[in-house]
Amino acid sequence: MSKKLVVITGASSGFGAELAKLFNANGHALLLLARRRDKLEELGLSDCLCRKVDVRDKEQVLFAIKEAEEVFGPVDCVINNAGLMQLGNTATQDTQEWRDMFDVNVLGLLNGIHAVAHEMKTRGTGTIINISSVAGRKNFPNHTVYCGTKFAVHAISENLRQELASSNVRVITIAPGAVPTELLGHTTDEKVINDYDKWRTDAEIKITTQDIAQSILFAYQMPQNVCIRELVIADTRQEM
Ligand code: NDP
Repeated sequence: MSKKLVVITGASSGFGAELAKLFNANGHALLLLARRRDKLEELGLSDCLCRKVDVRDKEQVLFAIKEAEEVFGPVDCVINNAGLMQLGNTATQDTQEWRDMFDVNVLGLLNGIHAVAHEMKTRGTGTIINISSVAGRKNFPNHTVYCGTKFAVHAISENLRQELASSNVRVITIAPGAVPTELLGHTTDEKVINDYDKWRTDAEIKITTQDIAQSILFAYQMPQNVCIRELVIADTRQEM
């Protein structure tokens, strides 16, 4: 028998893929969600359902979770990790990029919460892990709207924690600093990409997706009555 079911959104690359490997290595059954299902399947994990789901679609998220619960039992943990970062100057940025970031980073995350919160409350146990960012605690150049979405993740998570605390359901906010993944590739402004890349190289950022995944597993593995409310994790050399 596998350990309890963990749902990871945005598991096709970056933190999500690393989390999938680590939680699976720790014996958990998994439901992995992303739009690129082939990337999920390439991970080749056991006791694992891979589903092509766009987190913006509440019904798709719900359907996949119900399917996984029929196989593996109730969801013990959801990691709302799917995200989009399109950095830019607010005065000139295509406003569709603002909408897309809010749709994925905020409403998509809320869909993940909505799909499990009521059941967890009823069962009196469960963990919701929301992936925010250091950019959810303070501001950076060209991050105006992205910061807006991540500040929202922090605010939503803290309020949600208060709502679920008396039901013994944990809400954990993870705020990573800069880590090389596919994330920067969605920014469309070449100068912004180059400036960010230069900043990350000059700062000698070496922290990895494995470091972030280990920290998240640590928070999850604490006893159910211990809630690490927030973890801020960045490379030691990241000043900002
Ligand atoms: P990646 O771009 O590597 O991964 C993003 C993941 O989100 C992909 O698996 C992608 O899958 C998924 N995704 C995006 N849009 C959707 C959607 N509409 N529906 C379902 N899945 C979606 O980036 P990271 O691993 O770096 O980012 C993961 C999280 O960490 C994000 O929330 C990001 O904001 C946050 N973060 C990242 C930092 C970093 O420096 N890397 C720092 C701080 C926070 P697919 O395209 O297949 O759908």
